[in-house]
Amino acid sequence: MQFQVETNKKMELVDITEQLKRILPPKGEGALMVFVLHTTAGVTINEGADPDVQEDILQHLERLARGKYLHREGNGPAHLQASLIGSSVLIPFKEKHLDLGTWQRVFFCEFDGPRTRTVQCQVLSGLTRDG
Ligand code: ZN
Repeated sequence: MQFQVETNKKMELVDITEQLKRILPPKGEGALMVFVLHTTAGVTINEGADPDVQEDILQHLERLARGKYLHREGNGPAHLQASLIGSSVLIPFKEKHLDLGTWQRVFFCEFDGPRTRTVQCQVLSGLTRDG
């Protein structure tokens, strides 16, 4: 299934953890694959408690991507940032609960906003001995 993320800034981390929890099946265990269908956005797992962590990540990615680009569209840095962050994460789940660490949250990463973005999710169910 898919859902939309509305971003409001050029660069932004949007916490999508709660949307992901709603996708989980009522019972069973497995892994949730989260995939971003864009070349200038990504998805990552990091600390959600202190918003300074998100700001630090964005500021350092912005600095890291400075320089000259051949790409004429003008969003070369956003393409680089998307590749550095990656376009998917895989999160284990069990009985309607994401197995994230205490401080972990899942963030959609916008690098060329504001835009309406699409996140695709797929539940990969584990096979148990009981079937
Ligand atoms: Zn481009």
